[in-house]
Amino acid sequence: MLIDVHAHLDQYTDIDEVLKEIKQHQIITVCNSIDLDSYKLNCDIAGRSNLVIPVFGVHPINAPKYSGNLHQLDEAIASSPLLGEIGLDLKLVEQGSPATDQKLVFEYLLEAALKEDKYIIVHSKNADVEVLELIEKHDVHKVIMHWFTGSQEVFRKLVERGAFFTIGTDILYSTKTQQLAPEIPLDQLLTETDNPLVSLNLPNALAMPRVLVDIVERLALQRDTTETEINQAVERNFMSIIQKIPKLVKYRKKIARDLKNQRASR
Ligand SMILES: [Zn+2]
Repeated sequence: MLIDVHAHLDQYTDIDEVLKEIKQHQIITVCNSIDLDSYKLNCDIAGRSNLVIPVFGVHPINAPKYSGNLHQLDEAIASSPLLGEIGLDLKLVEQGSPATDQKLVFEYLLEAALKEDKYIIVHSKNADVEVLELIEKHDVHKVIMHWFTGSQEVFRKLVERGAFFTIGTDILYSTKTQQLAPEIPLDQLLTETDNPLVSLNLPNALAMPRVLVDIVERLALQRDTTETEINQAVERNFMSIIQKIPKLVKYRKKIARDLKNQRASR
């Protein structure tokens, strides 16, 4: 069983093919949202698959839409088992998302995550120091860093804090990520795709769920281990994240069954 902790299924044009692949490769897919509309779409998609978990978040690019009235997010926050995608990206200031709005929304979501005891899936591109600062300020520990590209210093502080780190598609081509992969403690490692990766203009085949198989293969190579060890570690790690979420009990059962079958077949 594979785990994709960060995908955006609402951004596909042909979802049927995507859901077929998710089923074929048995990929539990955490479907991240970028605003209220995308969360609604993701909830609809999840209704068509027992492998898809929809979660609510506000991507930093969309912060200005909600910074004036944060309470309009409350219902979605309450209904979501984890919160993602949330965070900061200072490059997006040029694209019309002021840093003050981004921080306002991110801090609101951090406080909500604390209050409701939820894990957060964090975007920290072009803002690793600022993201760490706010995570420390609010003393949040249930953190999943998505596609981390920040400094070694920030990485170490987040590892010490117990944060999880996802490895995704860029391990296939980025030497920086290939070097980072073995440094993540095995019990803090997760996998993702960020599919459909619209921003990168990758070939279609790469932006489909099955790319996770290649990611795990490469991850095993970089860490000098087997794909089985990676898969089992990621399954265990994801189990620990969802273990206290009543809503996700059916996914826990799936993973537990899968780990048991693997033990039995050895
Ligand atoms: Zn994303």
